[in-house]
Amino acid sequence: MYEYTCKKCNGIKFFVKDNGNNKGLYCSNCGAWIKWLGKDELNTFLSSQKEEVIKVETSSVVLTDREKLEYLLKLVTKYEDDYYDFAIKAMKENNMLANHIHSAEAGSFQRIRYVVEDMLGY
Ligand SMILES: [Zn+2]
Repeated sequence: MYEYTCKKCNGIKFFVKDNGNNKGLYCSNCGAWIKWLGKDELNTFLSSQKEEVIKVETSSVVLTDREKLEYLLKLVTKYEDDYYDFAIKAMKENNMLANHIHSAEAGSFQRIRYVVEDMLGY
């Protein structure tokens, strides 16, 4: 996995945008510029993105619907926890805007988690 953390919002999801001849890495959450990517860094980032997609596509072939829901539950639970952690960290840094954004994000994942748990009969 290709690990970066956004200095502005502590986000962990990124996208690549062209800027002339340069490829910039940007935070998917707040849009902040992270860094310019060299050729090797760009390839590493792109293949890490691809791996994630392939993992999900491959597993959807062999998994039952219940297993897919359990996978989804694991994923949304992880995101919910991640965003709560970001919110707490932001609060400690007295960044109330980031705290508010991350809390809202955690709340969204929580609502999805409730729906998936309900579908699974938990
Ligand atoms: Zn950010």
